[in-house]
Amino acid sequence: MAKTSEEAVSIASELKSPVVIKMQTWTTGRADMGGIKFAATAEEAGEMASEILGMKVKNFTVDNVLIEKKLNIEQEFYAALIIDDKSAKPMMIFSSVGGTGIEEIAEEHPDKVARLSIDLLEGLKDYQARELLRRTGITGKLQMKIAMVLVKLFNLAKKYETRAAEINPLVITDDGALIAADCRITVDDSAVFRHPELGIEIARELDRPPSKLDKIAWDVEKDDYRGTFYFIQMAQGFSKEDNYVGFHGAGGGGSMMSMDALNNKGFKIANFVDTSGNPPASKVYRAAKIILSQNNIVGYFGSGSGVASQEQFHSARGLVKAFREADLSIPAVIRLGGNQEDKAIEILTELTKELPAPVEGYKKNDSADFCAERMNSLVESFDYNSVKTNKFQPPVQEKPYSFKTLTGEIFYDHALCADCTDTPCIASCEPEILKLENGLPVLAVSGEDAAKGKCTECLACEQVCHYHGNKGAYISLPIAGLTV
Ligand code: SF4
Ligand code: SF4
Repeated sequence: MAKTSEEAVSIASELKSPVVIKMQTWTTGRADMGGIKFAATAEEAGEMASEILGMKVKNFTVDNVLIEKKLNIEQEFYAALIIDDKSAKPMMIFSSVGGTGIEEIAEEHPDKVARLSIDLLEGLKDYQARELLRRTGITGKLQMKIAMVLVKLFNLAKKYETRAAEINPLVITDDGALIAADCRITVDDSAVFRHPELGIEIARELDRPPSKLDKIAWDVEKDDYRGTFYFIQMAQGFSKEDNYVGFHGAGGGGSMMSMDALNNKGFKIANFVDTSGNPPASKVYRAAKIILSQNNIVGYFGSGSGVASQEQFHSARGLVKAFREADLSIPAVIRLGGNQEDKAIEILTELTKELPAPVEGYKKNDSADFCAERMNSLVESFDYNSVKTNKFQPPVQEKPYSFKTLTGEIFYDHALCADCTDTPCIASCEPEILKLENGLPVLAVSGEDAAKGKCTECLACEQVCHYHGNKGAYISLPIAGLTV
């Protein structure tokens, strides 16, 4: 593997042979993109590597190339083990005329492509593999040799619980060697946890290596089962002129419709986020912080299912905390349709009205198209150059009283609380885990219970405290790896 043209030269010199330079991306069709090149000399390999390195594929930069010895190929085959949805069984596919455009090959040469449905418990037997090969015209010793490869391919796919395992191409070289010249496996997302040896960082089917932000978001999601948080970065390295928006959806269908509405207004989507299934405010807050950490987005657009059954004010509180800490410097349009939407919009708009950038809240009767139009007007009229923001610093507390929550920590500054007459934090706590002791807020349950989930991380105590002009409450919800 080479990251620079110099490394490519040195690897090619070591191989002492003509080489192939292959773009390392998690995608098919690399040859058509100019991502596979052949070089006769080491110098040529360096030049070709530098042409490929830095290319943009699906908005991400190619930063690795594989340098391999060029094989003198006599014949190409294709072998794959997939899961056939129809029969709900593994299926081996073999082509004796290669595999680039396997569907077309199967149509044009039905006698050269064969399929075999495999009983999972029985596995693939050698005689079954040979029969499969016979149907594609492979006979004799070659049939025996390839049959062994197919049996091994099936065993590997079973061991690693793959949804697809593919050798493309499987080749015979001019000296008679049978070589798997390129391979790819896709492990079932739900089985990834059983295979730490594979080093898969995110158990999700991605078409590229995870970005830094993808990893940070996965860290938030992977151990917190309260609702969903799905994040995927869709672009990097853009400027303000490119018109990218940070997208925060809730629910698949509504999110798709909302992204279409944005696209129709000429916006591009920097990321896809879904927080749904009744996530706590803390999770929505972390999602919003991660979205906001992307440089050069021109706006923040929240819109998903029009009539969500989750209590939308939790999402509103998460957004409010993130927007306030960011001292929001880009316009935001948030559509929080569904259960308790009036309360949600009131929280959202009341607690963000002092921020440098506008935040507009909409409900179920406001369409995604209308909200995208609002985003468009705000972005067009907003003066990005003159906006001034303050960097958020957690408060320094004189007499902190604190307790742990499931994913963070809550602090009340008892020095400030001593002067607080209305103490709204107590009434705002729906799970009723707070009480007054000598006029100061303290836990009414054990610290252990609060940390196990009695504190629902609803963020209400912090927000009512600030809304009433008191500054005693602060909730710390760290996001590992996020520096902004
Ligand atoms: S509202 Fe704030 S300042 Fe007042 S008692 Fe509660 S935490 Fe303390
Ligand atoms: S202490 Fe109560 S109000 Fe504060 S975050 Fe926890 S559950 Fe919400």
